[in-house]
Amino acid sequence: YSREDNPNRRALEHCLAALENGKEALILPSGMAVATAVVQGLEPGDHVIAPDDVYYGFRRIFAEMFSRWSLAVDYVDMTDIDAVGAAVRPSTRLIWIETPSNPLMHITDLDALGRIARAANAISVCDSTFATPVQQHPFDWKIDMVMHSTTKYIGGHSDVVGGALITKYDNYLFERVRRLQSHGGLVPSPFDCWLTLRGIDTLPYRVRAQSDSGVRIAAFLKDHPTVTAVHYPGLPGHLGHAVAARQMSGFGGMMSFQVRGSEAAAMKVAASVRIFTRATSLGGAHSLIEHRASVEGPGTKTPSDLLRLSIGLEHYEDLIADLNQALEAGCRP
Ligand code: PLP
Repeated sequence: YSREDNPNRRALEHCLAALENGKEALILPSGMAVATAVVQGLEPGDHVIAPDDVYYGFRRIFAEMFSRWSLAVDYVDMTDIDAVGAAVRPSTRLIWIETPSNPLMHITDLDALGRIARAANAISVCDSTFATPVQQHPFDWKIDMVMHSTTKYIGGHSDVVGGALITKYDNYLFERVRRLQSHGGLVPSPFDCWLTLRGIDTLPYRVRAQSDSGVRIAAFLKDHPTVTAVHYPGLPGHLGHAVAARQMSGFGGMMSFQVRGSEAAAMKVAASVRIFTRATSLGGAHSLIEHRASVEGPGTKTPSDLLRLSIGLEHYEDLIADLNQALEAGCRP
C-alpha cells in the first residue's frame, strides 16, 4: 500500500541516503513538503533560526501557515557566525541552513553552524539543493539532516517535482516526518520516484558539465561592462569563496548577477535572450534565466536589477554569446 511503502520510493530513498553518506532518507512530493513536514514536527513554543536570504517559499510557510502554531523564527545573516550564535535561545530546536543560497549565492560555513546547533541541542538541516551530493556533503561537516528539492538537479530534466530528507542518525524530527508521510499521506507518486532515480544516473556528469560552464560564464559576466555584480562562489572575490572552496568540490551551475540600469534593464536583458529560457526552477538540462524579484513578489529582499541563471548542458560558448547579445540589447543606452 503505497502510502506506507513503495518499491520505487524505497529505491530512491536508498540511493539518496547512500549519495549523502546518511543513514536513511525519506522522499516527499516536493522540496517544500520536506520543509513543511520538518517544521510540523516541532513543538509549540520552539524557536527556529533560518537564513535571512532563505528560499522565499520557506519564509512564506512561516508567515502564512506557522504563524498560528506558536513557533518563533529568527532570520539571520548566516555568513556572520557570531550573529547565528547570538540568535540561539534555550528554546532553539531547529537551525535551517541553505548553502549556496537562492538567489544571492551566499555561502554558509557548515562546520561552524553544525557546532552551534550541537551546542544548542538543536537539529541542523542543510538545504543542499544548489550544491547536490556531487559537490557538497553536509554530513562531513557536523550537519544532522540534509534536504534537497529533487525537482532540480537530482531529477535533472524539469519534468518532476519532489523532495528528499536525509538523516545522519535516528532523531525525533526525522521520525515525525516519517509518520507524517505514512499516516498523514505525504507521498510522492511511484512514477515520480522512478523518473527521479533515472535522472540520478547522469547526475555527476550533468553537474560537472554545468559547473565547468558556470565558472566560465561567471568569469565572462564579471568582466562585462554592463554587469555591476556577479554572485558566484567560484569567483575569488566572492565573500564565501574560501568557505565554498573548503566545503564544496565544485562551484555549481547556479549564479546571479546585477546589471547597470536597474530593473528595466534587467527585464530587457531577460527579454532578449535566445538560448536561455525565461522560467523559474533550475538544475535541468536547459539553461534558464529569471527575474527573481518579480517571482518572489512584494517584500522580496532580492535586488530588482538581479537576474538568476541556471546553466544547462548547452555549449558554454553559445551561452556566453547569448548573454553578450542580450546584455548589449538590454543595457546599452
Ligand atoms: N530549496 C531551494 C533552494 C529551492 O530553490 C527550491 C525551489 O526552487 C525549494 C527548496 C523548494 O522546492 P520545490 O519547488 O521542490 O518545492
